[in-house]
This record gives sequence, structure tokens and C-alpha cells, in this order.
Amino acid sequence: MDFIEKLIEDFALLPGIGKKSAMRIALYLVQNRNISEVLLNDLDYTIKNIKICKYCNNLSTDDECNICKDNTRDKKVCVVETISDLYAIEETKDYKGYYFVLSKLINPSKGIFVEDLGLDKLKNLIINKNIEEVIFMLNYTPEAQITIDYIKEYLDGMNLRFSKISVGIPIGASIEFLDKTTLRLAFNERKEI
Ligand SMILES: [Zn+2]
Repeated sequence: MDFIEKLIEDFALLPGIGKKSAMRIALYLVQNRNISEVLLNDLDYTIKNIKICKYCNNLSTDDECNICKDNTRDKKVCVVETISDLYAIEETKDYKGYYFVLSKLINPSKGIFVEDLGLDKLKNLIINKNIEEVIFMLNYTPEAQITIDYIKEYLDGMNLRFSKISVGIPIGASIEFLDKTTLRLAFNERKEI
């Protein structure tokens, strides 16, 4: 097989990239060597140095991600399920607090229990960043509700306010795909729990 064809197939494996886009990207990169080289270097460096932030589970090439490094942020933590959710919220430029990425939700039938969530890390973030409010930004599922209940219980006695995103997110919608206006509205109308 010609390697250009192979390259097109490789790009088509990426999320959101169809065959046509894969073809355009592959042809562009093989014809623009300077851009390809920057991309290769950056990708290589990132892959070799990628770490999980010691506070929030975001990805970073440092031990602490840029968000956690920023001490001017609001004393809030937004609990999300995925790093894509974190990026989607960060894109709105409206929320200025910290995040905590769970990566999974409690689901006993899949063998995921509260001790699998690494909540000691969340506690550590709350203490280190003097967090006053915990905001849950999770998709509407029974697993999310169980997870919220357990986290609240786990953090009981830490003098925190808890709130949950209550409107603006259609049932079954995924946070990472919501538009900025919907996300912004959802934040502003969050409900204390
Ligand atoms: Zn972080």
C-alpha cells in the first residue's frame, strides 16, 4: 500500500474526521513539511511528557496543570466526568474556578464504587485551593446522581456549599457537545443542593 493512502486511513481513525477531511489533512501535511515537522515535534513531546495533574486529573506536561497553577481563580471547584467536559466549560471563559475530573461515575453493576473515584485527591484540592463551593456539572444519569450523593457525604463537615447544574442541559445531552450559551446559562442558574 502507498503510504499516502495509509496516512489517509490513519487520520480517518481520529474522532470527528471523515474520509474527506482525512484526505485533505494528509495531502496538506505531506506538501507542507515545515508544518508537519512542528506538529511531529509537538506531538512527540506531548506524548512523552503527558501527566495527570496532581490536583485535578486534567492532562498536563507538568505535575500541575495551568488551571491549578493559577492562584487567582475563584474558590470554586467544578466536578466533571471527562477532560472534554472541562475543556468545553473552560471555552465559555465564564467560569473562573478550578475543576476536578472524575473520569468515572459510581456504577456498582460495572464494579465501580466510591473508593475508585480517588476522592482523597478532590479533598486535597479543596484544602490546597481554599475551595468554598463544589459545583457538579455531570450529565443527567442515575450514576451521576449516586456519585453526587456520595461525594457530598464524603466531603461532609468541610464547610462547603454544594450546587448542581439544573437547567439548560437537555436530558441525555453530553456536556462536551453543548454550545457556549447553553453552558453559560446552565452555570448561572445552578441550584444549591
Ligand atoms: Zn489541575
